[in-house]
Amino acid sequence: MSKLNRAWHDANPMPANPTLDQRVEWHLAHTAHCGCRPIPRLVLEELARRGIAVPETTR
Ligand SMILES: [Zn+2]
Repeated sequence: MSKLNRAWHDANPMPANPTLDQRVEWHLAHTAHCGCRPIPRLVLEELARRGIAVPETTR
């Protein structure tokens, strides 16, 4: 189920030239509020490296 949460995106733009930390934080928040796109592989790998559970709503 992919549904764009326009209000969340308007309030939470991805920073320009984001650091990996910023990307990880953004995608975790994004996945909790919006399902318009999956978490990129690089971010998934970083979550695994940090031992952070990947939210189920990424599918
Ligand atoms: Zn989205």
